[in-house]
Amino acid sequence: MIITNFSPVLFKDVIVNENAVKHLLAEVKNDRIGHAQMFLGPEGSGKLGLAIAFTQYLLCDNPGKKDACGECPNCQKMNSLTHPDLHFAFPVPISKADKVATSDDLRSEWNQLILKQPHFGVENWLDHIGSEGKNPIIGVDESRAILKKLSLKSFSGKYKVMIIWLPERMNAQAANKMLKLLEEPPQQTLFLLLCDNNEAILPTIISRTQTLTVPALKREQVADYLSKKNGIDKAVAHSIASLSQGNMVEALNAAHGDKDQLAYFDLFVKLMRSAYAANPNDLMAISDEIAEIGKQRQKNFIKYGLHIFRESIIMNYMKDQLLNLREEETAFLNKFAKFINNQNITELMEEFNEAHYHLERNANAKILFTDLVIKLTKLVRKGV
Ligand SMILES: [Zn+2]
Repeated sequence: MIITNFSPVLFKDVIVNENAVKHLLAEVKNDRIGHAQMFLGPEGSGKLGLAIAFTQYLLCDNPGKKDACGECPNCQKMNSLTHPDLHFAFPVPISKADKVATSDDLRSEWNQLILKQPHFGVENWLDHIGSEGKNPIIGVDESRAILKKLSLKSFSGKYKVMIIWLPERMNAQAANKMLKLLEEPPQQTLFLLLCDNNEAILPTIISRTQTLTVPALKREQVADYLSKKNGIDKAVAHSIASLSQGNMVEALNAAHGDKDQLAYFDLFVKLMRSAYAANPNDLMAISDEIAEIGKQRQKNFIKYGLHIFRESIIMNYMKDQLLNLREEETAFLNKFAKFINNQNITELMEEFNEAHYHLERNANAKILFTDLVIKLTKLVRKGV
């Protein structure tokens, strides 16, 4: 696990499009702070850090022209994300058995994740709370909780800020209650809705918010963050940054995933050997093994498989091209690559791409991988 200690509170430390910061500073300077704002931008564009830094700036006792002071009592409370005027609402896997109904039930886990680093997606969040594969939402209890929190008096005498992460995950009931809140907001409140995709949001909610577009990060911003804050080798950081197209969440997942690569390699070798030998017991065992590693890793594993297939083709047909492989992978492919050829490559890639597609749509992993393994036994033999 890569741990970086995020100081979430200052604009200068937030990795985000700089125009978005300028826009917010201008709002404050011109005294035109919209009471409900939607930060709209693709996943991994740094909206959460931006929202927290903005809150910090608004609550700070001695804000400068460009940033909060970082030291006053309000700033200190923000440092640990425990400022009483800082509120969050975020999707949770609602479960009576686990006693989870609203964000409050998982607030300490939430703070912990942000303080580690603020660029994460829904799957990282679920992974963090041990709820992989669940479908988290913002439910109606959450809207009630929001109303209750915002009807309290402001602690600092300034804004009460409600940061709503992924409002597109509000269910209909919650959204309707939310709409009323936005129509008649309690005094001194500021709503910041951090939205990846506004197609799933009621148009009436959108029309009651002011939209700030937050574009994807520049590749250099991502590469810098990976190498300086995460200790990733510069060249690797650059290649990850360009593959992730400015999506910091994806880039970090890839960087963390690098450590999983070895595990994927072992699994892949086992999978291909079992497929080649076509021993039913081995095949069941391997599909069980993959079914248990969790959704995110399954998707990464599938991507890893696609990568190995491509490298096999390069090894077989494009000898002058550089291979992008580790030592142990090269050793394996020196024997295995010949089975991946014109006879089966298209179908192999198709099957893996399809598996990825279905995983994204929450297919049952056990069924999916059993099916894939059976297909592989035929496809691997086709290449012999
Ligand atoms: Zn301050």
